[in-house]
Amino acid sequence: MFTTAAGRGMATTSKYFRPSTRSLAKMANTCNQKPEKKVSSKIPRQKLKVRYEPEHWVRTLSNIRAMRSSFDAPVDVMGCERCTRDDVTEEEKRFHILVSLMLSSQTKDHVTYAAMSRLIEHGLTIDDIIGTSEEKLGSLIYPVGFWKKKVGYLKRACVMMKEEFGGDIPKCVESLVKLPGVGPKMAYLTMTCAWGIVVGIGVDVHVHRVCNRLGWVEGTKQPEQTRLQLQRWLPREHWKEINSLLVGFGQQVCLPIAPKCQQCLNKNICPSAR
Ligand code: SF4
Repeated sequence: MFTTAAGRGMATTSKYFRPSTRSLAKMANTCNQKPEKKVSSKIPRQKLKVRYEPEHWVRTLSNIRAMRSSFDAPVDVMGCERCTRDDVTEEEKRFHILVSLMLSSQTKDHVTYAAMSRLIEHGLTIDDIIGTSEEKLGSLIYPVGFWKKKVGYLKRACVMMKEEFGGDIPKCVESLVKLPGVGPKMAYLTMTCAWGIVVGIGVDVHVHRVCNRLGWVEGTKQPEQTRLQLQRWLPREHWKEINSLLVGFGQQVCLPIAPKCQQCLNKNICPSAR
């Protein structure tokens, strides 16, 4: 399934080389951020590896964009970037995006969106959450998945952000994942959606499933493995769009059970088409 760019007769210019996983991890740490170009230029050429890429990925991606052109999937209208308001400060918007991502695990988009609307109506700043009782917070976010646990995560994360991060959300993956209830997927999405800094791909269950079906990754068991494999070959310019593209595609066409293969533009090139 995987071929090398060189093997397909393509020029092996620098864009076909990827930095090592360790270097990518360093890039993710934007709290001690160095300019991205400098990090890349420090990688010795002899350590760079040929980038492997799956067959037909350009065509497959183009087909997915075509199938997603109406932008009417739940993620498009109720995703994390929609869970805030225009009349709040940039700092508050960042916080809203982080909170919506914390609420979104194991939860349908419309349930997260409704909970966010109630929270924003109540007042949704770090100080608001610290000053709200657990009981009240629970009543505001119910029925998001694991809502009791998430009440505790939110309260503790807000205290950490106030005491250790100057009352704002952390600006690097390394610090974001230290917040209770925040894993790599949320951290990478927060960096992209809240800070506008793309340091990695947010891989949730939809992205994980679709990538395995398309043969874009090989036999990964966990989303984090999928993220690492995907980042090894997918050109960086696609990292920002790939999460919402694949999430919406997974919500509308490549469903978890009974994917709509006969309607899918990729049915002739997808290794999992039925
Ligand atoms: S052909 Fe089927 S399995 Fe393959 S991407 Fe399309 S919907 Fe998913």
